[in-house]
Amino acid sequence: MRDNGKYEINIIHLFPDLLNLYGDRGNIACMEKRLEWRGITANVRQCTNKDSDIDLTGADIIFVGGGSDREQEIVCSRLLKKKDELKAHVESDGVLVAVCGGYQLLGKYYKTASTKIDGLDILDIYTDSGDTRLISNVVLECDKFSMPIVGFENHAGRTYLGEGVSPLGKVLFGNGNTGDSGYEGVIYKNVIATYLHGPLLPKNPQLCDYILKRALERKYPGFEGLEPLDDGLEELANKYIVSKYVGKA
Ligand code: GLN
Repeated sequence: MRDNGKYEINIIHLFPDLLNLYGDRGNIACMEKRLEWRGITANVRQCTNKDSDIDLTGADIIFVGGGSDREQEIVCSRLLKKKDELKAHVESDGVLVAVCGGYQLLGKYYKTASTKIDGLDILDIYTDSGDTRLISNVVLECDKFSMPIVGFENHAGRTYLGEGVSPLGKVLFGNGNTGDSGYEGVIYKNVIATYLHGPLLPKNPQLCDYILKRALERKYPGFEGLEPLDDGLEELANKYIVSKYVGKA
């Protein structure tokens, strides 16, 4: 193994006490482990609702999960105070991974039947909630990866994308951003935002490595790239899901 001891990545997990539906925090464990297996140090810092300040100092990767509308509103009101700092992180190519409720709050607003939550306006998107929940297994085609992205969605919000952002993937199975746009999630600079909950990164090792590589390349210009890992089991699981829902792997 190469000597990767000189590399370290700071991961900030925003509000795991509020936004952690379906165990979104497993994504943090996955990033930690895949760095550690390459001899790269991962420093994880949690920022919870008990903390009086949200400390983003030194962040390489910021992660925010999903949750109920109520929890989302609390998190959003706290993050609005850090809007400029979060925006500066994103605009300077910092990595930000946002899932479901976290995805919605990066946009201009999230409108439910009873309220309108002002978002952080980091992404050119907005979300309106619909009358039904979009609940499904999901398979996406993403031109960055040879393996389709697989996952699970459960959201009332329909997210509409503006010109400034691109979708993460094309929906091969499931609902995606609106149920009928044919696309799911967003990529903007080094932001990955998606409705796919729970073990997004354990199920999609190529996506996890893409995120890690982006963070390492930004921090260490000239970074030689990540050494491959044995993802045989993940590939088998991916093939099974793709053949089950799409019919071919
Ligand atoms: N509250 C949002 C919605 O229903 C997000 C839910 C979630 O994170 N699963 O659209």
